Amino acid sequence: MVLRTTTPLTEGTYTAARGAVDTALTATKIVLDGEANSYGLCRPPGHHATTDLYGGYCFFNNAAVAAHYVSSTFGTKVTVLDVDYHHGNGTQEIFYGRDDVQYVSLHGDPTRAYPYITGYADEEGTGRGRGANLNIPLPKRTEDDPYMSALDRACEAIRAFSPGLLIVSLGLDTFVTDPISDLAVTQDGFRRSGDLVRQLGLPTVVLQEGGYDVNALGTNVQAWLHGLAATKN
Ligand SMILES: [Zn+2]
Repeated sequence: MVLRTTTPLTEGTYTAARGAVDTALTATKIVLDGEANSYGLCRPPGHHATTDLYGGYCFFNNAAVAAHYVSSTFGTKVTVLDVDYHHGNGTQEIFYGRDDVQYVSLHGDPTRAYPYITGYADEEGTGRGRGANLNIPLPKRTEDDPYMSALDRACEAIRAFSPGLLIVSLGLDTFVTDPISDLAVTQDGFRRSGDLVRQLGLPTVVLQEGGYDVNALGTNVQAWLHGLAATKN
């Protein structure tokens, strides 16, 4: 296998990347042990790491490791819902031919947004995995209401797949003032997103992916989690 990369390695990369995987697995264990939800602050993020390519600040695919662990250990079907601004090319690639892990993603249209090569609506999975991959590319400046409509469509697909566990790749780079992205979701939109996902009624593991308006990142994560947990901001 030729390993390809577009993300630099530095001293400490392996330790940090391995720590992020451990964080994802610990967050997953908390839910398997009976909590309704958990949140893993994974750093570095993971959804751009494929089987043979790491890029977009990602090295190991935290969400994919957790999803594969649950599916292969317990035979439980898992959905990875990816709401990061960027399409999770890594997670899609890893599960593209499988029917035990569904991948559903809302993201900036790859005709203009990283990773450019994947994330198109006609990528539906292959072989046994056909139908277990759903991409919903979004236009520039998508605001809360149309974003919620897209998320509602994603939730319909998740209900149809009927997983036993949900893993959310939570990117907050859909935020209206994110410096590297071009959607227009507000903090209230994040709360509404968490609330909509809560209505799926699934055990839910939330793992941190991107988010580059660092001054608002913490409160945006809080808003999303408050929606998920039905608690007040
Ligand atoms: Zn991103």
